[in-house]
Amino acid sequence: MNKILVIGANGQLGTDLTEALRKKYGLQQVVAADIQDGPTPALEQGPFEHLDVMDAERLSQVVNRHQINEVYLLAAMLSATAEKKPQIAWKLNMEGLLNVLELGKAGILKKIYWPSSIAVFGPNTPKNNTPQHTIMEPNTVYGLSKLAGERWCQYYYEQYGVDVRSLRYPGLIGWKALPGGGTTDYAVDIYHQALKQGHYQCFLSQETALPMMYMPDAIKATMQLMEAPASQIKIRSSYNIGAMSFTPAQVAQSIQKHLPNFAISYKPDERQRIANSWPASIDHAAATEQWGWEPAYQLDNMTRSMLEHLAPLYGQAAVEQAEQTA
Ligand code: NAD
Repeated sequence: MNKILVIGANGQLGTDLTEALRKKYGLQQVVAADIQDGPTPALEQGPFEHLDVMDAERLSQVVNRHQINEVYLLAAMLSATAEKKPQIAWKLNMEGLLNVLELGKAGILKKIYWPSSIAVFGPNTPKNNTPQHTIMEPNTVYGLSKLAGERWCQYYYEQYGVDVRSLRYPGLIGWKALPGGGTTDYAVDIYHQALKQGHYQCFLSQETALPMMYMPDAIKATMQLMEAPASQIKIRSSYNIGAMSFTPAQVAQSIQKHLPNFAISYKPDERQRIANSWPASIDHAAATEQWGWEPAYQLDNMTRSMLEHLAPLYGQAAVEQAEQTA
């Protein structure tokens, strides 16, 4: 029986993933951990540990106490925040991973999940349908740390037989938790602002196309990858994984199908430079061939679902407006 520890469980991905893992494996089988003092309301039902992943000794204690054999390491500093605090970002993103990989090397953890990102690619990478294997050369601190992390994962797999698995997520969009300081955060905030005030000022330009994924697809991909037999996992750095690609103007149009008065304006900031260095769309053929990846959501069915779930947060008027055109 697997006993799971999710590190960074309070975050955007962690909130959804911890819930999904608990639903599948049982509440007591999945321990949530975060550097924050307590769990978010969604995770209050199950076990929680206050943990700084950079503290290797405490990590080891938590793993021993709960007899953990599988870790999902989600704690990281994301792209936009990392550019403001490069040294801290590098330290967290690298040390956290190495602490967990060491527990794999020691044979204590049987399986490890660690997410990478499309940020591993850079301005010299082919922008459209970016291949699995291509020029990387990231020019952000976040991208540097994710690329180095991928190499460490492959190294621990090859040298020590650690069963570590990884996905290069695109921008993740969900309604349960707010995003934590990335360059694609606009694609979550735009839905909240559309319902709250009918207007959104976007920090990326209208034609900036980026790869994106709705959270249920991200959870499905993660669980599918982790459940696949080891023999099917041929890539031990990280898999390209994709679902859709859109610009801020396109997501605004998709929202206007439900909220016709919604308006968008553009005021690009320093995050534009980061977005410009990333792919516009991703080729995920290897994930499809090797363990059967197929996304379920494109822009319009994601928009419908986001508005339906968020409308109740913003009162009756927003619910009626969203329902009228749903
Ligand atoms: P997030 O910022 O929302 O959540 C990170 C969580 O980690 C937070 O709850 C934070 O309190 C916790 N944390 C921070 N430092 C910690 C530490 N030292 N010890 C323990 N916990 C700590 O991030 P997210 O969006 O949920 O991302 C999760 C993972 O997925 C990250 O590795 C990120 O790089 C990757 N990813 C996310 C996206 C996205 O769009 N959200 C895209 C690509 C990759």
